[in-house]
Amino acid sequence: MASPTFQPNRVRLARELRGWTQGHLAGKAGLSAAAISQFEAGSTPTEANLDKLGEVLDLPIGFFFVPVTDTHEGFFRSLRRTSVADRRRARAHAHLAHDLAEAAAGDFPSVDIPDLPAPDLDPKSEWPTKAAQAVRRQWAIGPGPIPDVIASLEDHGILVLRLVLDSIDVDAFSLPFDDRPVVVLSSDKNDRARSRFDAAHELGHLVMHGSQVWGVKEVEQQAHAFAAEFLMPAAEIKSELPHKVDWSDLFALKVRWQVSLAALLMRAKTLEVISPNEYLSAVKYSSARGWRRLEPVQLGPPEQPSRTQQLVSSAAAHRATRDWFPQGAWRDLLASTES
Ligand SMILES: [Zn+2]
Repeated sequence: MASPTFQPNRVRLARELRGWTQGHLAGKAGLSAAAISQFEAGSTPTEANLDKLGEVLDLPIGFFFVPVTDTHEGFFRSLRRTSVADRRRARAHAHLAHDLAEAAAGDFPSVDIPDLPAPDLDPKSEWPTKAAQAVRRQWAIGPGPIPDVIASLEDHGILVLRLVLDSIDVDAFSLPFDDRPVVVLSSDKNDRARSRFDAAHELGHLVMHGSQVWGVKEVEQQAHAFAAEFLMPAAEIKSELPHKVDWSDLFALKVRWQVSLAALLMRAKTLEVISPNEYLSAVKYSSARGWRRLEPVQLGPPEQPSRTQQLVSSAAAHRATRDWFPQGAWRDLLASTES
Protein backbone atom coordinates (compact mmCIF):
# COMPACT_ATOMS: atom_id res chain seq x y z
CA MET A 1 0.00 0.00 0.00
CA ALA A 2 1.35 3.45 -0.88
CA SER A 3 2.13 5.61 2.14
CA PRO A 4 -0.56 8.19 2.80
CA THR A 5 -0.13 11.60 1.24
CA PHE A 6 -0.27 14.85 3.19
CA GLN A 7 -3.42 16.79 2.24
CA PRO A 8 -2.76 20.54 2.37
CA ASN A 9 -6.49 21.36 2.29
CA ARG A 10 -6.88 19.58 5.60
CA VAL A 11 -4.78 22.24 7.35
CA ARG A 12 -7.14 24.92 6.19
CA LEU A 13 -10.16 22.81 7.10
CA ALA A 14 -8.81 22.10 10.59
CA ARG A 15 -8.07 25.76 11.12
CA GLU A 16 -11.51 26.80 9.94
CA LEU A 17 -13.17 24.29 12.29
CA ARG A 18 -11.67 26.40 15.02
CA GLY A 19 -12.52 29.69 13.40
CA TRP A 20 -8.84 30.65 13.33
CA THR A 21 -6.85 32.72 10.87
CA GLN A 22 -3.47 31.52 9.59
CA GLY A 23 -1.81 34.00 11.94
CA HIS A 24 -3.79 32.72 14.90
CA LEU A 25 -2.82 29.10 14.20
CA ALA A 26 0.80 30.12 13.66
CA GLY A 27 0.88 31.83 17.06
CA LYS A 28 -0.63 28.84 18.86
CA ALA A 29 1.75 26.37 17.17
CA GLY A 30 4.84 28.55 17.54
CA LEU A 31 5.31 28.69 13.78
CA SER A 32 5.39 31.57 11.33
CA ALA A 33 2.27 32.57 9.43
CA ALA A 34 4.29 32.04 6.25
CA ALA A 35 4.88 28.41 7.25
CA ILE A 36 1.15 27.82 7.74
CA SER A 37 0.42 29.43 4.43
CA GLN A 38 2.99 27.14 2.76
CA PHE A 39 1.47 24.03 4.36
CA GLU A 40 -1.93 25.07 3.07
CA ALA A 41 -0.41 25.60 -0.36
CA GLY A 42 1.06 22.11 -0.46
CA SER A 43 4.47 21.90 1.20
CA THR A 44 4.60 18.94 3.58
CA PRO A 45 5.31 19.82 7.23
CA THR A 46 7.98 17.92 9.14
CA GLU A 47 6.76 15.28 11.56
CA ALA A 48 7.51 17.59 14.48
CA ASN A 49 5.45 20.38 12.94
CA LEU A 50 2.59 18.01 12.18
CA ASP A 51 2.61 16.99 15.83
CA LYS A 52 2.42 20.62 16.86
CA LEU A 53 -0.46 21.29 14.50
CA GLY A 54 -2.32 18.21 15.71
CA GLU A 55 -1.83 19.23 19.29
CA VAL A 56 -2.97 22.84 19.06
CA LEU A 57 -5.84 21.95 16.73
CA ASP A 58 -6.86 19.03 18.98
CA LEU A 59 -7.01 16.42 16.23
CA PRO A 60 -5.30 13.14 15.30
CA ILE A 61 -2.41 13.42 12.83
CA GLY A 62 -4.34 11.02 10.58
CA PHE A 63 -6.69 13.90 9.87
CA PHE A 64 -4.06 15.54 7.62
CA PHE A 65 -3.88 12.45 5.43
CA VAL A 66 -7.53 11.80 4.64
CA PRO A 67 -8.09 12.60 0.96
CA VAL A 68 -10.23 15.66 0.40
CA THR A 69 -13.25 15.93 -1.84
CA ASP A 70 -13.76 19.61 -2.37
CA THR A 71 -16.51 21.86 -3.61
CA HIS A 72 -17.07 25.60 -3.86
CA GLU A 73 -17.63 28.04 -1.00
CA GLY A 74 -21.25 26.99 -0.65
CA PHE A 75 -24.68 28.50 -1.19
CA PHE A 76 -24.85 31.20 1.45
CA ARG A 77 -27.72 33.63 1.41
CA SER A 78 -26.78 36.82 3.10
CA LEU A 79 -23.07 37.41 2.95
CA ARG A 80 -23.32 40.39 5.26
CA ARG A 81 -25.22 38.84 8.15
CA THR A 82 -22.50 36.41 9.21
CA SER A 83 -18.77 37.03 9.49
CA VAL A 84 -16.49 35.23 7.07
CA ALA A 85 -14.87 33.30 9.93
CA ASP A 86 -18.23 32.07 11.26
CA ARG A 87 -19.35 31.10 7.78
CA ARG A 88 -16.13 29.18 7.18
CA ARG A 89 -16.45 27.48 10.55
CA ALA A 90 -19.97 26.31 9.75
CA ARG A 91 -18.82 25.24 6.30
CA ALA A 92 -15.93 23.25 7.78
CA HIS A 93 -18.33 21.33 10.02
CA ALA A 94 -20.53 20.55 7.04
CA HIS A 95 -17.42 19.35 5.23
CA LEU A 96 -16.61 17.00 8.10
CA ALA A 97 -20.11 15.60 8.07
CA HIS A 98 -19.56 14.84 4.40
CA ASP A 99 -16.26 13.08 5.16
CA LEU A 100 -17.95 11.03 7.86
CA ALA A 101 -20.64 9.89 5.50
CA GLU A 102 -18.03 8.84 2.97
CA ALA A 103 -16.08 6.90 5.58
CA ALA A 104 -18.96 5.32 7.44
CA ALA A 105 -22.13 5.79 5.46
CA GLY A 106 -23.52 2.42 6.51
CA ASP A 107 -27.03 2.23 5.20
CA PHE A 108 -27.47 5.90 4.42
CA PRO A 109 -29.38 6.09 1.12
CA SER A 110 -27.39 6.63 -2.06
CA VAL A 111 -27.57 10.01 -3.73
CA ASP A 112 -30.50 10.45 -6.11
CA ILE A 113 -30.89 14.11 -7.04
CA PRO A 114 -32.16 15.15 -10.45
CA ASP A 115 -29.49 17.16 -12.26
CA LEU A 116 -31.34 20.04 -13.89
CA PRO A 117 -28.83 22.88 -14.32
CA ALA A 118 -30.56 26.24 -14.80
CA PRO A 119 -29.89 27.43 -18.37
CA ASP A 120 -29.63 31.08 -17.28
CA LEU A 121 -29.93 33.37 -14.28
CA ASP A 122 -33.23 34.96 -15.27
CA PRO A 123 -35.15 35.41 -11.99
CA LYS A 124 -38.43 35.19 -13.95
CA SER A 125 -37.48 31.95 -15.66
CA GLU A 126 -39.96 29.04 -15.59
CA TRP A 127 -37.05 26.70 -14.98
CA PRO A 128 -37.25 26.55 -11.15
CA THR A 129 -40.96 25.67 -11.34
CA LYS A 130 -40.35 22.93 -13.89
CA ALA A 131 -37.39 21.63 -11.90
CA ALA A 132 -39.47 21.42 -8.70
CA GLN A 133 -42.18 19.52 -10.57
CA ALA A 134 -39.58 17.15 -11.99
CA VAL A 135 -38.14 16.44 -8.52
CA ARG A 136 -41.60 15.74 -7.10
CA ARG A 137 -42.19 13.33 -10.00
CA GLN A 138 -38.82 11.60 -9.82
CA TRP A 139 -39.09 11.22 -6.05
CA ALA A 140 -42.66 9.93 -6.38
CA ILE A 141 -44.05 12.60 -4.07
CA GLY A 142 -47.82 12.45 -4.32
CA PRO A 143 -50.11 15.45 -4.56
CA GLY A 144 -50.64 17.74 -1.57
CA PRO A 145 -48.26 18.93 1.11
CA ILE A 146 -44.94 17.12 1.53
CA PRO A 147 -45.20 15.22 4.82
CA ASP A 148 -41.57 15.71 5.87
CA VAL A 149 -39.22 17.74 3.67
CA ILE A 150 -36.06 16.84 5.58
CA ALA A 151 -36.87 13.12 5.42
CA SER A 152 -37.38 13.46 1.65
CA LEU A 153 -33.91 14.97 1.30
CA GLU A 154 -32.30 12.31 3.47
CA ASP A 155 -34.16 9.50 1.70
CA HIS A 156 -32.42 10.65 -1.48
CA GLY A 157 -28.97 10.69 -0.02
CA ILE A 158 -28.62 14.32 1.12
CA LEU A 159 -27.03 14.87 4.54
CA VAL A 160 -28.94 17.39 6.62
CA LEU A 161 -27.45 19.05 9.68
CA ARG A 162 -28.67 21.53 12.20
CA LEU A 163 -25.53 23.16 13.54
CA VAL A 164 -25.25 24.65 16.99
CA LEU A 165 -21.81 26.22 17.20
CA ASP A 166 -21.52 28.44 20.25
CA SER A 167 -23.32 31.62 19.39
CA ILE A 168 -22.70 31.38 15.68
CA ASP A 169 -25.74 32.47 13.80
CA VAL A 170 -25.58 31.21 10.23
CA ASP A 171 -28.49 31.04 7.81
CA ALA A 172 -29.23 27.77 6.06
CA PHE A 173 -26.70 26.86 3.37
CA SER A 174 -25.59 23.89 1.32
CA LEU A 175 -22.45 22.36 -0.13
CA PRO A 176 -22.91 20.54 -3.44
CA PHE A 177 -20.30 17.77 -3.10
CA ASP A 178 -20.64 15.53 -6.17
CA ASP A 179 -20.60 12.37 -4.11
CA ARG A 180 -22.65 13.48 -1.09
CA PRO A 181 -24.26 16.92 -0.87
CA VAL A 182 -24.81 18.51 2.52
CA VAL A 183 -27.60 20.86 3.60
CA VAL A 184 -27.14 22.81 6.82
CA LEU A 185 -30.20 24.32 8.47
CA SER A 186 -29.91 27.18 10.86
CA SER A 187 -30.34 26.35 14.51
CA ASP A 188 -31.90 29.56 15.71
CA LYS A 189 -35.11 29.33 13.75
CA ASN A 190 -37.21 27.15 15.93
CA ASP A 191 -39.81 27.41 13.27
CA ARG A 192 -41.20 24.44 11.38
CA ALA A 193 -42.49 26.38 8.38
CA ARG A 194 -39.23 28.27 7.94
CA SER A 195 -37.13 25.13 8.31
CA ARG A 196 -39.16 23.35 5.61
CA PHE A 197 -38.80 26.29 3.26
CA ASP A 198 -35.06 26.51 3.92
CA ALA A 199 -34.60 22.80 3.20
CA ALA A 200 -36.58 23.10 -0.05
CA HIS A 201 -34.59 26.21 -1.04
CA GLU A 202 -31.26 24.41 -0.55
CA LEU A 203 -32.55 21.44 -2.53
CA GLY A 204 -33.28 23.88 -5.35
CA HIS A 205 -29.62 24.92 -5.39
CA LEU A 206 -28.43 21.32 -5.49
CA VAL A 207 -30.78 20.50 -8.36
CA MET A 208 -30.33 23.66 -10.46
CA HIS A 209 -27.00 25.24 -9.56
CA GLY A 210 -24.75 22.48 -8.20
CA SER A 211 -21.15 23.36 -8.75
CA GLN A 212 -21.79 25.65 -11.75
CA VAL A 213 -22.92 28.92 -10.21
CA TRP A 214 -23.12 30.40 -6.73
CA GLY A 215 -22.75 33.64 -4.82
CA VAL A 216 -25.08 35.80 -6.94
CA LYS A 217 -28.51 36.96 -5.91
CA GLU A 218 -30.24 35.50 -8.97
CA VAL A 219 -29.56 31.97 -7.78
CA GLU A 220 -31.26 32.87 -4.50
CA GLN A 221 -34.38 34.03 -6.32
CA GLN A 222 -34.41 30.84 -8.38
CA ALA A 223 -34.02 28.68 -5.26
CA HIS A 224 -36.95 30.54 -3.68
CA ALA A 225 -39.10 29.94 -6.75
CA PHE A 226 -38.13 26.27 -6.65
CA ALA A 227 -39.05 25.99 -2.96
CA ALA A 228 -42.42 27.68 -3.53
CA GLU A 229 -43.42 25.21 -6.24
CA PHE A 230 -41.91 22.22 -4.43
CA LEU A 231 -43.89 22.96 -1.25
CA MET A 232 -47.00 24.52 -2.81
CA PRO A 233 -47.51 23.26 -6.39
CA ALA A 234 -49.37 25.93 -8.35
CA ALA A 235 -51.73 23.39 -9.90
CA GLU A 236 -53.00 22.46 -6.46
CA ILE A 237 -52.75 25.53 -4.29
CA LYS A 238 -54.02 28.12 -6.72
CA SER A 239 -57.64 27.09 -6.29
CA GLU A 240 -57.25 26.92 -2.50
CA LEU A 241 -55.86 30.42 -2.00
CA PRO A 242 -58.45 33.09 -1.08
CA HIS A 243 -59.02 35.81 -3.68
CA LYS A 244 -59.27 38.44 -0.99
CA VAL A 245 -56.91 38.36 1.96
CA ASP A 246 -58.86 36.30 4.47
CA TRP A 247 -56.82 35.53 7.54
CA SER A 248 -58.86 32.61 8.82
CA ASP A 249 -58.51 30.93 5.41
CA LEU A 250 -54.78 31.65 5.42
CA PHE A 251 -54.39 30.26 8.95
CA ALA A 252 -56.05 27.02 7.82
CA LEU A 253 -53.84 26.85 4.70
CA LYS A 254 -50.78 27.39 6.87
CA VAL A 255 -51.68 24.30 8.89
CA ARG A 256 -52.58 22.25 5.83
CA TRP A 257 -49.48 23.07 3.77
CA GLN A 258 -47.04 23.55 6.68
CA VAL A 259 -45.70 26.79 5.27
CA SER A 260 -45.59 30.31 6.68
CA LEU A 261 -48.27 32.93 6.16
CA ALA A 262 -45.60 35.03 4.49
CA ALA A 263 -44.91 32.25 1.98
CA LEU A 264 -48.64 31.80 1.31
CA LEU A 265 -49.13 35.51 0.70
CA MET A 266 -46.14 35.61 -1.63
CA ARG A 267 -47.50 32.56 -3.44
CA ALA A 268 -50.91 34.22 -3.83
CA LYS A 269 -49.23 37.28 -5.32
CA THR A 270 -46.92 35.31 -7.64
CA LEU A 271 -49.83 33.21 -8.92
CA GLU A 272 -51.86 36.42 -9.36
CA VAL A 273 -54.61 35.27 -7.04
CA ILE A 274 -54.30 38.56 -5.16
CA SER A 275 -53.16 41.88 -6.57
CA PRO A 276 -49.81 43.49 -5.69
CA ASN A 277 -51.76 46.10 -3.70
CA GLU A 278 -53.62 43.52 -1.66
CA TYR A 279 -50.34 41.77 -1.04
CA LEU A 280 -48.78 44.98 0.17
CA SER A 281 -51.56 45.81 2.56
CA ALA A 282 -51.52 42.25 3.95
CA VAL A 283 -47.79 42.58 4.57
CA LYS A 284 -48.35 45.91 6.33
CA TYR A 285 -51.09 44.38 8.43
CA SER A 286 -48.74 41.53 9.41
CA SER A 287 -45.89 43.90 10.27
CA ALA A 288 -48.11 46.06 12.44
CA ARG A 289 -49.01 42.99 14.50
CA GLY A 290 -45.43 41.77 14.83
CA TRP A 291 -46.19 38.73 12.64
CA ARG A 292 -43.06 39.27 10.57
CA ARG A 293 -41.08 38.23 13.63
CA LEU A 294 -43.47 35.70 15.13
CA GLU A 295 -46.41 34.49 13.11
CA PRO A 296 -49.67 33.35 14.65
CA VAL A 297 -50.63 29.65 14.32
CA GLN A 298 -47.79 27.50 15.62
CA LEU A 299 -46.98 24.37 13.63
CA GLY A 300 -45.02 22.59 16.35
CA PRO A 301 -41.34 21.67 16.46
CA PRO A 302 -39.29 21.77 13.25
CA GLU A 303 -38.60 18.59 11.31
CA GLN A 304 -35.48 16.77 12.47
CA PRO A 305 -32.76 15.22 10.32
CA SER A 306 -32.97 11.89 12.13
CA ARG A 307 -31.13 9.77 9.57
CA THR A 308 -28.16 12.14 9.54
CA GLN A 309 -28.22 12.28 13.35
CA GLN A 310 -28.05 8.50 13.40
CA LEU A 311 -25.20 8.47 10.92
CA VAL A 312 -23.17 10.96 12.96
CA SER A 313 -23.75 9.05 16.20
CA SER A 314 -22.84 5.69 14.71
CA ALA A 315 -19.84 7.09 12.84
CA ALA A 316 -18.48 8.31 16.17
CA ALA A 317 -18.01 4.68 17.16
CA HIS A 318 -16.91 3.49 13.74
CA ARG A 319 -13.47 1.96 13.24
CA ALA A 320 -13.02 3.71 9.91
CA THR A 321 -13.09 7.15 11.49
CA ARG A 322 -11.21 6.57 14.74
CA ASP A 323 -7.75 7.43 13.45
CA TRP A 324 -8.57 10.73 11.92
CA PHE A 325 -11.75 12.26 13.22
CA PRO A 326 -11.19 15.26 15.53
CA GLN A 327 -12.78 14.69 18.93
CA GLY A 328 -13.60 18.37 19.33
CA ALA A 329 -15.65 18.28 16.16
CA TRP A 330 -17.45 15.15 17.37
CA ARG A 331 -18.66 17.15 20.30
CA ASP A 332 -19.89 19.94 18.04
CA LEU A 333 -21.52 17.62 15.52
CA LEU A 334 -23.16 15.46 18.16
CA ALA A 335 -24.33 18.50 20.12
CA SER A 336 -25.88 19.80 16.93
CA THR A 337 -27.94 16.66 16.59
CA GLU A 338 -29.41 16.76 20.09
CA SER A 339 -32.58 18.71 20.17
ZN1 LIG B 1 -29.71 30.07 -1.29
